[in-house]
Amino acid sequence: MGPPVDPVPPETGVPARADVVIVGGGIIGTSAALFLAQKGLSVALCEKGHIAGEQSSRNWGWVRKARRDPREIPLIVESLRLWEGMNERVQGETGFRRTGIVFAAESAEDIARYETWLDHARPYQIDARLVSGAELERVMPGTGGRWQAALYCATDGRAEPQKAAPAIAAAARRAGAAILGNCAVRGVERSGGKVAAVVTEHGRIACGTVVVAAGAWSRRFLRDLGLTLPQLKVRASVMRTGPVEGAPETALWCSDFGFRRRLDGGYNIGNGHVNVVPLVPDSFRFFTNFLPALLMDTKGLKLRADGRFLQEWRESKPAPLDQVSPYEKTRVLDPAPDRRYLREALDALKRMFPAFASATVAQEWAGLIDVMPDAIPVISTVDSVPGLIIATGFSGHGFGIGPGAGRLVADLATGAPPIVDPREFRFSRFSDGTRVRPIAGI
Ligand SMILES: Cc1cc2nc3c(=O)[nH]c(=O)nc-3n(C[C@H](O)[C@H](O)[C@H](O)COP(=O)(O)OP(=O)(O)OC[C@H]3O[C@@H](n4cnc5c(N)ncnc54)[C@H](O)[C@@H]3O)c2cc1C
Repeated sequence: MGPPVDPVPPETGVPARADVVIVGGGIIGTSAALFLAQKGLSVALCEKGHIAGEQSSRNWGWVRKARRDPREIPLIVESLRLWEGMNERVQGETGFRRTGIVFAAESAEDIARYETWLDHARPYQIDARLVSGAELERVMPGTGGRWQAALYCATDGRAEPQKAAPAIAAAARRAGAAILGNCAVRGVERSGGKVAAVVTEHGRIACGTVVVAAGAWSRRFLRDLGLTLPQLKVRASVMRTGPVEGAPETALWCSDFGFRRRLDGGYNIGNGHVNVVPLVPDSFRFFTNFLPALLMDTKGLKLRADGRFLQEWRESKPAPLDQVSPYEKTRVLDPAPDRRYLREALDALKRMFPAFASATVAQEWAGLIDVMPDAIPVISTVDSVPGLIIATGFSGHGFGIGPGAGRLVADLATGAPPIVDPREFRFSRFSDGTRVRPIAGI
């Protein structure tokens, strides 16, 4: 079962038309809905389950510039600005706090990597820096003598995944957006090649623009439009503890674990380096796309053959729009957590920080992360389908960048000057001869 998410009360009936229909009610879809509604457009957001039911409530809750892919730095800088004013903008609690993040440098190789990243970040005047000795002890008590150094960014922070997207959705609704739960979008209708409507399980919504912010379902959804999005899924697990006294406010990542204090006084804890890759038919189709990324992390990625192979194979067939779709059959993707890796993380954490010795495990869950071959998202219009905007593939770091991404979607939909240059996020990079791969050495 997933973590408890703040409910967004249901709305009945779908509107006959909207300027923009958004497919997916995670942090990206809700942020896009908010900015579009605040620009005065009519918006319908369709979520097949409940708001933030999938990745957006299941993540660690880190909002970070540090160790960000350089191609995402302008957008995360804007996102942090948006997070800063978000509680006021939505008149609610997203949990955003600037409490700093520390990345341990456990080897000379880590230090070299962080220095390379700092070189990339320098033009943006980000306050991240390497700290060691007494200074490291001050920012992360109990670790000063343990590691050679750490990358520390005081202005990075956290937000509450179980609160943020619901609070943003509620504000979008107050700004006029229709926020529809239990409302799967089965597909898109086109007229003269352009987007003309979406067909939901509750009826048709005519629209000129559709935003696909469908997380791990985006690949399947776009395939029905004849588009190939090279996206795979990675399973990551999280543990939530009850309140812990005397443990750090600042979030920490090291190779054994990562943690982040929650508003309720407990901690979200994850394994620092292990993620599970379920083998599915797309793993073979996209093998060459993902090979460079796989080779960069041969230790941390664990390939697994399990029930998802058959499930995705069955779901891959196109379903007529008047029949129940796979989106209605799985309202919420809720994979079983990989408990062994969580226990290893908690044991290592208890050894390092005595404050966690009596921590109680309140819940464990997992989420399926939508990953791209170059580990950066697609936030893009599509030449061959006028009216379509894709916003997906956030590759395990879309929560923090969500508000900026939502704002960029709203800019693309309205033709406003984009909040950042969207070129790096273009869909056409997979077909225009670009060497699509993660940036090495950061
Ligand atoms: C364990 C874990 C830890 C993470 N830690 C962090 C972190 O600390 N910081 C960070 O920045 N990021 C983190 N991430 C990544 C982050 O959670 C995601 O990048 C982000 O939430 C993606 O948001 P989204 O809105 O694109 O997708 P989602 O939140 O997955 O939302 C997509 C929604 O679309 C809906 N949907 C799909 N198809 C349809 C359809 N046809 N009709 C209607 N609705 C549909 C789904 O039900 C779903 O609710 C983590 C992820 C996981 C799993």
